[in-house]
Amino acid sequence: MEDTVLAEPSESFRPKIGSVTLSVLTAIYILVVANHTFWTRAFGYLSSAPVAFAAFVIGISTLTIAALTTFSVKYLTKPALIFFLMVAVVSSWFTDQFGVIIDKEMIRNAAVTTQAESAHLITLSFLLHILLAGVLPSLFIIWVRVVHKPFLKKFVWNMAVIVPCLGITIAAGLGFSQTYASVGRLHKDLMLTLNPFVPIGSAARFAFASEDDRYIVRRPLGTDAHQRTASANGKPRVTIIVAGETGRAQNFSLGGYPRETNPEMKARGVIYYKNSTSCGTSTAVSLPCMYSVYPRADYTHRKGLETDNLTDILGHAKVDVEWWDNDTGSYGVANRIPYRFLPDAADPRFCTDGECLDTVLLDKLGDWLSNVKSDSVLVLHQLGSHGPAYYRRYPDDFRRFTPDCRTPEFGACKPEEVVNAYDNTILFTDHVVAKVIDNLKKHQDRISASMLYVSDHGES
Ligand SMILES: [Zn+2]
Repeated sequence: MEDTVLAEPSESFRPKIGSVTLSVLTAIYILVVANHTFWTRAFGYLSSAPVAFAAFVIGISTLTIAALTTFSVKYLTKPALIFFLMVAVVSSWFTDQFGVIIDKEMIRNAAVTTQAESAHLITLSFLLHILLAGVLPSLFIIWVRVVHKPFLKKFVWNMAVIVPCLGITIAAGLGFSQTYASVGRLHKDLMLTLNPFVPIGSAARFAFASEDDRYIVRRPLGTDAHQRTASANGKPRVTIIVAGETGRAQNFSLGGYPRETNPEMKARGVIYYKNSTSCGTSTAVSLPCMYSVYPRADYTHRKGLETDNLTDILGHAKVDVEWWDNDTGSYGVANRIPYRFLPDAADPRFCTDGECLDTVLLDKLGDWLSNVKSDSVLVLHQLGSHGPAYYRRYPDDFRRFTPDCRTPEFGACKPEEVVNAYDNTILFTDHVVAKVIDNLKKHQDRISASMLYVSDHGES
């Protein structure tokens, strides 16, 4: 049988390889090529215990080999190995380039992201990385001829690899359990960058959680909310909430940053609240949390969905609430109130390629304020300092800190150029917020106005 196959000329160029050998080779490839951040962190955290680090490397390697060898089954080997390889290569790009940990919330963020947002991440170097590190080795896996042993023999042969590998992993773990436990307690992120297992586990947890979300019944909250007094002078009370994006407190001069990034707000005498903490590092977590009744430590995605949020409760109190979005959506917060997604209009004065400068939020504000008749809250959801394409967040006349990084690939810029671009985004946010204040002042003869700016989270 084997001989007949070899005799076919088209097949003769394809090398033969045992399925266990192919699994082991793929495991080693993934460990070496797609786990740079993982090994760097492990090395850093275990630098004072070189023998424990060596045992850690061996234990993780044998664990990976055992896991991939489990899929050394006819018809399953190739698709499984290619799947693991591609997940590892894609994930490692985001972990190595941006320090992203692919947890359940990051998968949620990726699942609800806008096209324009993801387009910035699909750069030429990203595609090159996927092609060279992912597609080429996958083509190699497709090309080679995998030799499978008869089922029983194969089972024994697989076990002969898997069992000793797991034995080594367990021995390494037990041998240095105290070191690993204390390092793990101190550095909870140690295992979170291991490819491809962590991203696959996160995706599975996200899928199960999303399935659960479908059966959530929202509990009404604060249905007795009401306004205790009428407006003193009969004017409608108007509050504008500017919901910021990625505005890092550390880079606000109002909070002590040595660079003047908030000149316009400063000139308007705003009050700066120093003591606030975001619920997470992604919009999908932080934004709904801001509008939920739960404090940071108690908030979960599910609890947020299960309970009325601030916009609902304002509605119970007969306040008109509206949401204008220039970011990536309201993440469910504005599901029951009037909502406008401004990039949809693609207004050429503000927008290119599906994204708009935040001045688009100011465009219709004057008209809205002229027509407001009752107590109202308007949420302006900014694009703010959304990365990594900081340079697209501000117009040319706000390129005050230069040279500024003009690409979404931080690797191509010096760190100070990235900071310059980021600080320009804060400067532009300062301008947008100041213009909101000016607009409110302009209408103060007929409305009683207030404004609150708060960002969903900072930047790493
Ligand atoms: Zn955000």
